[in-house]
Amino acid sequence: MEQVPVPAPEMPLAAAAVVRNETIAKEEAEEYRGVDRAVQRTWTISCRRASTATSVAAAASVIQGVFCRDMAAVSNLLSQVGFNRPIPINLLASDTRMMIRMQQSKMIMKTLPILTICSLMVWTAITTQVQAVEFEVTNEAVGTPGSTRFEKEVGIDYGKQTLQSASTFIWQTFKQAKNERKNIQRVRLIVRSMSGNAAASTSNDEISLNANFVENLSGDAKVPVTGVLYHEMTHVWQWNGNGQAPGALIEGIADFVRLKANYADPNWVQPGGGDKWDGGYGVTARFLDYLNGIKDGFVADLNRKMKDGYSENFFVELMGKNVNQLWTEYKAQCGG
Ligand SMILES: [Zn+2]
Repeated sequence: MEQVPVPAPEMPLAAAAVVRNETIAKEEAEEYRGVDRAVQRTWTISCRRASTATSVAAAASVIQGVFCRDMAAVSNLLSQVGFNRPIPINLLASDTRMMIRMQQSKMIMKTLPILTICSLMVWTAITTQVQAVEFEVTNEAVGTPGSTRFEKEVGIDYGKQTLQSASTFIWQTFKQAKNERKNIQRVRLIVRSMSGNAAASTSNDEISLNANFVENLSGDAKVPVTGVLYHEMTHVWQWNGNGQAPGALIEGIADFVRLKANYADPNWVQPGGGDKWDGGYGVTARFLDYLNGIKDGFVADLNRKMKDGYSENFFVELMGKNVNQLWTEYKAQCGG
């Protein structure tokens, strides 16, 4: 369900004819959260409420609104009422609802029986708005010992599958609907010879795996490399508070995902370990896991809040206590 390949939306997509009123938009914004399944249900309900479309007479060059999601059905209906010219649209995802910004010099819409349209509106509505993600693996360190080990013990195909399965796992862990995710169409993994022994690094949608790190692993390289890929892939998809979140928390969340995927590094501290909540990596990951155990979905909610900014007060908002109190309780219960 996560990765059904979806063709690019075809023009004409005159979906923007259906502008629902603010009340509906707000109700939907309240409901439209959580996992994909819930979104599907909510959208069906929301659209049923929109029993008629609003007439639109727009002279402005840009119209923005919340729209019925069944592009194909709306387009079909519009063509029946004689509106079938191609309209360029850009899809914008916000964390609470999908919006369409439509550029159109002038248009006048008739009132449309949206109930009919929306009875057809189900899952495809969502998938038409999000492209499938492509995953690529390339080896730019061919001939080095680390690269040879990568090819033998991990492999390009397995690397690709892991990028895919890690992404699916991360979206589930973050409880993100498709339109809540970052708009990334392609993620690349490149095996490189990097200076030093760092395992990997990630910049936007590109992960670099250090061939030297692979070379120096003891035992089978596959499991630790998989763990590293879950961590790095989390960096691709997680929100970083628009650059304001502390690095230790970013790393802690990435290792929390790795922990939940059962790829924890055996060298990490045990639960309760560490001196401060923002010790980063395994220390912070264990702490987040403790909080997530108290409140299921805590990390998903925290990540969601980190989309546009960061405040330590997020812990208070989600857990009712500040992060230092929570750390003290964690140490009292789990620390040694
Ligand atoms: Zn990291």
